[in-house]
Amino acid sequence: LNRRLAEFGTTIFAEMSALALKTGSINLGQGFPDTDGPEEIREAAVRALRDGRGNQYPPGPGVPELRTAIAAHQERRYGLSYDPDAEVLVTAGATEAIAAALLALVEPGDEVIALEPYYDSYAACIAMAGGTRVPVTLRPHEGAFRLDLDELRAAVTDRTRLLLINTPHNPTGTVLTREELAAIAELAVERDLLVITDEVYEHLVFDEAEHIPLVTFPGMRERTVSIGSAGKTFSFTGWKVGWVTGTPTLVTAVRSAKQFLTYVASGPFQYAVAEALALPDSYFADFRADMLAKRDVLAAGLAAAGFEVFRPAGTYFVTTDIRPLGPELSRNGDGFAFCRALPELAGVVAIPNAVFYDHREEGAPFVRFAFCKRVGVLEEAVDRLKKLA
Ligand code: PMP
Ligand code: GLN
Repeated sequence: LNRRLAEFGTTIFAEMSALALKTGSINLGQGFPDTDGPEEIREAAVRALRDGRGNQYPPGPGVPELRTAIAAHQERRYGLSYDPDAEVLVTAGATEAIAAALLALVEPGDEVIALEPYYDSYAACIAMAGGTRVPVTLRPHEGAFRLDLDELRAAVTDRTRLLLINTPHNPTGTVLTREELAAIAELAVERDLLVITDEVYEHLVFDEAEHIPLVTFPGMRERTVSIGSAGKTFSFTGWKVGWVTGTPTLVTAVRSAKQFLTYVASGPFQYAVAEALALPDSYFADFRADMLAKRDVLAAGLAAAGFEVFRPAGTYFVTTDIRPLGPELSRNGDGFAFCRALPELAGVVAIPNAVFYDHREEGAPFVRFAFCKRVGVLEEAVDRLKKLA
């Protein structure tokens, strides 16, 4: 393994899902729903397979039906106008979109600023692109993980090429506010930075939180690569259909890298996702309401079990602080040790947030639980965790 990748080892999601299987634990680690997306969309995929649509290589940028549906979705929800032919690119999940965008836009030696904790593929892809990651840490403040805008400004240097933003944010559940996004946009314009914005949880925002695409702020249209995913929005994480939207120049650049990664993927599923994006608003509202109810079950249960809970404003993850469980049970606030012990102790799997940090000590006491599971499963997990104390 080369030096760029050597530090990364096996992704925590594979490690923890394997542990869940081995111990027969409830898996609240890796974020995937235990209920598949809409029946009619599964039927649409079957029809595409049967009718021979997408069984051979689809077009490089994605099938026209899907590109049109992605543009229409952006228009309908956010009033954003994209040309489906020049400004939309279908990818093998958001994961490939992130990789291709970084490989296309980062020169070796460029600095890339990412919000820490960051989704684990960011660090690996910045490294593969030869870039240097510069983490800006979100810290707990009044019950949520918040961005310090002064710290973000101070992190920009003459070598900074790009800001990699994620909102709603995995793993903290933070949703950046209009004021924060406006400040990020101003900084990007002032320092002439490119921005990649990972918005795969765009439909999962709760309470008063609102998802506002970063690209809608002044000066951002020409410098922003926006990323979405059908895996999250329609509960089909195995289909690996994601997308990029941006100016023709940016999308062409991302496509230049993408063509040598997978070239294309997920042929028949692309047709099904095109239908999914056209579902009525009630689908998106019901999906959000369902996840909100699940969030409340898990957040209340974890609090009752003795964790400090950071109630997420978005995503399907709850971050907790394990230290209130006491030094013995929390392994002196070491989330790694706690998560490795938890399957044996309680039959539950979670993710130590420390894996998403360069400053490991900052992330040490935080542990993430996914709530994209049936309510009965969440209740059983909570019952098991309550017995720990
Ligand atoms: N970005 C974030 C923030 C995610 O949480 C995920 C999924 N875990 C991805 C990207 C990857 O999405 P996909 O499954 O579409 O590749
Ligand atoms: N995005 C999912 C999570 O954060 C996992 C995706 C993966 O396994 N790579 O849990």
